[in-house]
Amino acid sequence: MTTIAFLGLGNMGGPMAANLVSAGHTVHGFDPVPDAVKAAEENGIATFPSAIEAVAAAEVVISMLPNGSIVKDLYRDILTATPTGALFIDSSTISVDDAREINQLAADHGYAQLDAPVSGGVKGATAGTLAFMVGGTEEAFSAARSTLEPMAGKVIHCGDAGAGQAAKVCNNMVLAVQQIAVGEAFVLAEKLGLSDQALYDVITGATGNCWAVQTNCPVPGPVPTSPANNEFRPGFATALMNKDLGLAMDAVSSSGSAAPLGTHAAEIYRAFAADNGALDFSAIITTLR
Ligand code: NAD
Repeated sequence: MTTIAFLGLGNMGGPMAANLVSAGHTVHGFDPVPDAVKAAEENGIATFPSAIEAVAAAEVVISMLPNGSIVKDLYRDILTATPTGALFIDSSTISVDDAREINQLAADHGYAQLDAPVSGGVKGATAGTLAFMVGGTEEAFSAARSTLEPMAGKVIHCGDAGAGQAAKVCNNMVLAVQQIAVGEAFVLAEKLGLSDQALYDVITGATGNCWAVQTNCPVPGPVPTSPANNEFRPGFATALMNKDLGLAMDAVSSSGSAAPLGTHAAEIYRAFAADNGALDFSAIITTLR
């Protein structure tokens, strides 16, 4: 079993670290927020007063933090305090450029490092069924597998450093465009006198089918578990979709890529997130009516 330092014990990191403890690993945690520390200790994580102390005996260092600048600052603090040979895994959602810079920073200090963002939300983190999208060398990926598995339903090696974050922003850009398009279709159908159920039955058996309608249907009725049946409680909060679209737009601009629909979706969600960040992102349909 492995000694794992887990840095960032929030909504996602807390349950992820708990699943590593359940799998028999020794987990040394750090988070600056006392409530996060208390919850982690209740789940069998040994907590430390600083990140530097948490990594002192680590064979693997996992971070699950709010943004790229926090990850970079943290790496600068801990890279000289971590045992030689340790493997670094950053599961935060950050930009592709930041992920590559962090990978280089770790390499400059002699460490292997992976970007391994996740999808599946707090539900997936708690159930140990997250999808990990991983960027980094084949060798580091193989070394990380047994650590990731207790937290994962699926682990996909996407390519070199930054490829995990690239996969995540591409997927979420598609998802945002689809959720808006599905909302537009239901609003148009309502105006044309077509029932929600009829449109759902047709699309889900036809070429327009996608997760945004089949699972996250933005009108109540056809999918009883979709957030539309529950006042748009998330699900996947608009604030997080807006964050991910901001990272997608960073990638579009730094790579010189053309993404007219993705860019428009990012604008639509940016405006919607200002007052509706806590709602599921399928609530975008309410702005179309
Ligand atoms: P969160 O705010 O609940 O947790 C982040 C934690 O990091 C907090 O407890 C905070 O105190 C801690 N932290 C801040 N600075 C730190 C430092 N220097 N050292 C150690 N800990 C520090 O956020 P979350 O929902 O757990 O999300 C974490 C990451 O996962 C984000 O990048 C987010 O975009 C991504 N993500 C979230 C979800 C979701 O559904 N919540 C889904 C997929 C990906």
